[in-house]
Amino acid sequence: MDELVARVKPGLHPGYEDQADVVLDAQGLAKHYPVSQGFMKPKAVARALDGVSFTLQMGKTLAVVGESGCGKSTLARQITMIETPTAGQLHLAGVDVAAADTATKKRLRQQVQMVFQNPFASLNPRKKIGQALEEPLVINTTLSKAEREERARAMMARVGLRPEHYQRYPHMFSGGQRQRIAIARALMLHPRIVVADEPVSALDVSIQAQVLNLLMDLQEETQVAYVFISHNLAVVELIADEVLVMYLGKVVERAGKRELFALPRHPYTRALLASTPRIDKAARQTRQVLSGELPSPLNPPPGCAFHKRCPHAVERCKVEVPLLRQPSDGKTIGVVACHLAEQIA
Ligand code: SF4
Repeated sequence: MDELVARVKPGLHPGYEDQADVVLDAQGLAKHYPVSQGFMKPKAVARALDGVSFTLQMGKTLAVVGESGCGKSTLARQITMIETPTAGQLHLAGVDVAAADTATKKRLRQQVQMVFQNPFASLNPRKKIGQALEEPLVINTTLSKAEREERARAMMARVGLRPEHYQRYPHMFSGGQRQRIAIARALMLHPRIVVADEPVSALDVSIQAQVLNLLMDLQEETQVAYVFISHNLAVVELIADEVLVMYLGKVVERAGKRELFALPRHPYTRALLASTPRIDKAARQTRQVLSGELPSPLNPPPGCAFHKRCPHAVERCKVEVPLLRQPSDGKTIGVVACHLAEQIA
C-alpha cells in the first residue's frame, strides 16, 4: 500500500464555505418505508433514512460509513434518483430535484452515475466492453458510431485498459479490470457526481490500491465529486475529504477526514475506528469494542438510538434524542449527535 499512502489526499479545508462549488446539497433527507405486519394489522414504518443533511463540493469526496442497515444504500438510492425521498430537499448541480420537470430530471440523471460493489453483476455478460461503454452515449447523445467509439477508446485508455480490450467480453477480465470498466462506463457522460457503493470491497488489497489511485487520478483530472460508501475505514482514510457516520438512518457524526480520525467524538465512530486495524499506537490503546447489534429501524430505541450499545450511556440518553451539533469545547469543527461529546473527547 506504499504507493497509495504517498497519494493520501490533504484534509478537508475548514467548513464548506464556498457554496458556488456545491454539486450536491441534501437537507433533512428522509426515506420511510411502510412495512406489512400481517393480516388486518396496521402497517409499521421503517425509517431507513431520517433527516440526513450534508453538502458536497466539486472535486471532493464524501465518505458515508456505518454498519449494514444504517441507511448508506438508501441514501445512495435517493442521490441517484432511483427513489424519491419521503421528506427533505435534494439539490443536484444547483437544481431542486423535487421541482424539476421530466426533461430536467433526465439531464440530472446523467450528472449522477453509480459504481457498484460487484463489477461483474453491473456489466452485461453478452456485451463487449466497447459496446457497454458506448451504451450511455447511444441513449443520451446524438453522436455517430465513429464518435462514440472514439470516446469509448479514449476512456479505456484513461482508466488503464488496452485497445484490444474493446472487443472483449466481461468474463475475460479480472475483478480489478472489471471495476476499471465500470468506472469508465460511469464517467462516459462526464457526470458531476459518482456514487461509489463499496467499490473496492470485493477486490484484493493490492488491487484495491490501484482502483483507489485510479479514482483519485480521475477526480484530479475531471473534478468529479464522489459519494464513497464504505464500511472499511482504512480505505475511507485514504480517499475521503469529509466523513458522514450513519447509525440507524441518521447522521451521528460529520467531520473532515483528518479531524474525524484524530478526534472521533461519537462513541459509535470510536467503535468503528476501533474495529479498523491501525498503525497508530495511541489509537490502538483507546480501542472500544462495539457490542450488540444494530436495532431494527421499525422499532428504534427511545432517546439516543445508540444507548443500548453505548458504554458511556447515562439516564438522559434513554429519553432525550441528541441533536447534531458542534461540540462547545472548540476542539473540532465537525458536528456530532451525542449528549456527552465534550466529556468523551
Ligand atoms: Fe452514548 Fe448517550 Fe452519547 Fe448516545 S448520547 S452516544 S448513549 S453518551
